[in-house]
Amino acid sequence: MSSFPRIYALARHKSGVLIEHGSVIEGVWRWNVPLRRKLFDWEIGVWESFYNTIKNFRSDSSVPDTIRWKASSNGLFSVKSCNSVARVNADMKDDCWNIIWSSLVPPKVAAFSWKATHGRLATRLNLYTRGSTKITSFMCPLCEEAPETANHLFCHCKIFWPILQKWCSLWDIYLIIPESISELIKVWAHSIPPTLHAAVWNLSLFSFLWSCWLFRNEIVFNGIKWDSAQLFDLCILRLAWWCKGNWPVSSITVNDLASCPLSFKFLNCSSAKQSKIAWKPPSKGEVKFNTDGAVNGSFGEAGIGGCMRNEWSRCLVIFSKSVGVVDSTTAEILAIKEAISIFRISRWTTKYKLQIETDSKLVVEWLTNLHSIPSVFKQLILSCLELCKDLEWQISHIPRECNSCADSLAKRGIHRLVDYCEVWQDP
Ligand SMILES: [Zn+2]
Repeated sequence: MSSFPRIYALARHKSGVLIEHGSVIEGVWRWNVPLRRKLFDWEIGVWESFYNTIKNFRSDSSVPDTIRWKASSNGLFSVKSCNSVARVNADMKDDCWNIIWSSLVPPKVAAFSWKATHGRLATRLNLYTRGSTKITSFMCPLCEEAPETANHLFCHCKIFWPILQKWCSLWDIYLIIPESISELIKVWAHSIPPTLHAAVWNLSLFSFLWSCWLFRNEIVFNGIKWDSAQLFDLCILRLAWWCKGNWPVSSITVNDLASCPLSFKFLNCSSAKQSKIAWKPPSKGEVKFNTDGAVNGSFGEAGIGGCMRNEWSRCLVIFSKSVGVVDSTTAEILAIKEAISIFRISRWTTKYKLQIETDSKLVVEWLTNLHSIPSVFKQLILSCLELCKDLEWQISHIPRECNSCADSLAKRGIHRLVDYCEVWQDP
């Protein structure tokens, strides 16, 4: 079927048994494959090649005609025997194999990518050569300039390729147009940006390929209009969901990732169990304020919380309050702002340096690099910086699992009707 699709398309008994395709004449098996019509001249070569392949197979009339699985001695299918055949036939050292079938890529997408690298996708050209009568054109539905093959669609199409390049240029990666998808996958795996985790980078390619294929299907089957910006956003959003699925402990939300693609570099791609970082008390002459924000969903009722401790890990201040309905990033910033405000009016403000710790890498980046602040958060971040004007202070990131004190205060803050703040005496 896959080796001779044209002959299969013409065969009269597509699911027929052997006896329908030949007979024993004078003790010798003779093939007779009934076709729906006479062959055209250009099909005769394919027919000869097909006949040469089957002519050495002969029927043994002493056993009943049944379908048997060749890979098992008993003729019955088993997953084990299928796996051994696949392992013998597949080049297990193929770079593509390891990248595609990594546990990070969703199985459905891995199967799609594997088919794409082997030219087995149901592209228009493939359907046309298989004799599909529903295909009116075998040209690429995106550019209409070349026959639609998987290699064209994902590597050479002037419509899709710039979208992939847009993602690459965000990371200062410039790819030369590859020959084929398998080459693209291999080159991709060797072009990891220094600022991005290799696993996120590899995953991103599959998000782009899969999103492009789904979008192409929408165009072909539902007649929707092409929109490059929409496809780019879909690719990023899909990647964000996959990343959160693979590394759920990371403090960055899907919204953060989708609205600011550069924030993928802040993803914590290790699990909580693997993290060896623990909360550490501040140095002498410093106090440390751990802060956090908590939101019901990605946008909803939110709370903020914080805990200030000294060099002996003794609690000096804690706060927990509701901040109404906001998104998670705003809650993180509001928690920091509240911590700075409390520190400013406290008795420690003149004698101690303030250390702030938050589990939001994004917010740390914005507070330390003014050029990186997205316009939507600019006012809030600048108001934090204004509060710090004459303070000696520093902000750093801490993994969420080491910020549990502030985290629980923030969560309890969500439903508070009255703000809670407690201040202890300095020892
Ligand atoms: Zn095209």
